[in-house]
Amino acid sequence: LAIHNVVIVGGGFGGTKAALILARDHHFNVTLIHDHPDFRYYPTMYQTAVGVTKSVASIPLEEIFDKLPITLVNDSMSDLDRHAQLVKTTSGKSIHYDALILALGVQTNYFGIKGLPEYSFGIKTIDDAEKLKEHLHTQLIDDKKPDLNYVIVGGGPTGIELAGVLPSYVRRISKHHGIKKPNIHVDLVEAAPRLVPRSPKDISRRLTRHLKSIGVKLYLKTSVQAETVDALMINNKPIRSHTVIWTAGMTNHPFFATHGFQLSTRGKVRVDQYMQAEPGIYVIGDNADSPYSGMAQTAIYDADFVASNIKLIAGGSDPEPYNAKKPIYVFAAGTHWSAVQWGPVHIFGRVGSWLRKLSDLVGYHDYEPWKLATKRLLAEEDSEEVCPICGTSDNNQSAQ
Ligand SMILES: Cc1cc2nc3c(=O)[nH]c(=O)nc-3n(C[C@H](O)[C@H](O)[C@H](O)COP(=O)(O)OP(=O)(O)OC[C@H]3O[C@@H](n4cnc5c(N)ncnc54)[C@H](O)[C@@H]3O)c2cc1C
Repeated sequence: LAIHNVVIVGGGFGGTKAALILARDHHFNVTLIHDHPDFRYYPTMYQTAVGVTKSVASIPLEEIFDKLPITLVNDSMSDLDRHAQLVKTTSGKSIHYDALILALGVQTNYFGIKGLPEYSFGIKTIDDAEKLKEHLHTQLIDDKKPDLNYVIVGGGPTGIELAGVLPSYVRRISKHHGIKKPNIHVDLVEAAPRLVPRSPKDISRRLTRHLKSIGVKLYLKTSVQAETVDALMINNKPIRSHTVIWTAGMTNHPFFATHGFQLSTRGKVRVDQYMQAEPGIYVIGDNADSPYSGMAQTAIYDADFVASNIKLIAGGSDPEPYNAKKPIYVFAAGTHWSAVQWGPVHIFGRVGSWLRKLSDLVGYHDYEPWKLATKRLLAEEDSEEVCPICGTSDNNQSAQ
């Protein structure tokens, strides 16, 4: 076989899926280089900021791979020697590949806006989400009242998800900390004239209506100018806030720009019809300049596609060309309300939220057996009842 050693870098949606598929074929020697020990299930990351157990968004890779023969290297790729076909890591390892799959994901982009890196919160990692949750509690304990404004920046899926659950969560923990009838302001700031601007208008309209109905104030066509320790500057006016959550910007992983990859105008890696950036180097998921890049479903689809082609090539057959697949878009705006964009069919409300649950179940099952996936889905209902700061539980509080 010409391809024996497959090295995958990035244990997210694309990389982990490719590793699972290829490791089931005994012809391949699969190595996954990943810079942290867990797989992050991003679609439910926002839930961990509002009291849901972190197991819904973080799964140890060792658990996912179980007994599969995958060499898991907990390290970070720092360099690539194309001539010698070696991946180099920050700890000094050199790992040889016959085929290389890169799935490094994207990084937060603050567009150079002053103050955001220092003062804003994010929900890209479990640590980010926990930091936000701790801040929400600390602020209520210290000030004995809610923040003047809880401001979410970004009217995309992540901003909407958070806006959908934040008002009820802040109300719940206010009660927990003995604050009666809290006056809570949750603001959602978006630069475009409507929410989810790349989706059809009726989706934006229904999301807007629903968020307003739960008390979220929308600032559309509004760009953020700067953030200070206690305010966010928009339209040359400050919104007083100590809680600004930035969900508005992502940029491609810097590795590609610094290592001679060809980039498209939107900064994604140009790939051919086999998702190769160069012969034998495949780039998938968020990193690739493909029509629906930026979605977990696309990263999974790409992983499946590239793994199948590597198998075909290894078996002496010709690879298949890529056919982009349109994802189903699900925008959760609260525990019991979602908007679903399934081609021409648009579904709203409670039925939408059931479909969202179903998509999480299928999403978990992409990485673990049905039984574990179901258990993880049910954990979405488990709210942590203990305050991360003062350690009291909801029950204690209600008894006070
Ligand atoms: C908060 C949030 C919510 C989302 N919700 C949805 C949703 O509901 N539905 C949906 O379809 N999509 C959603 N997405 C998008 C989806 O998560 C991404 O499209 C998907 O994760 C892309 O998969 P990937 O494999 O390309 O990258 P990732 O899943 O990001 O994986 C890349 C991994 O590579 C690791 N890595 C980076 N650099 C290195 C290095 N040098 N060496 C080793 N490892 C490295 C990173 O730590 C990361 O874990 C969401 C994204 C976010 C941030």
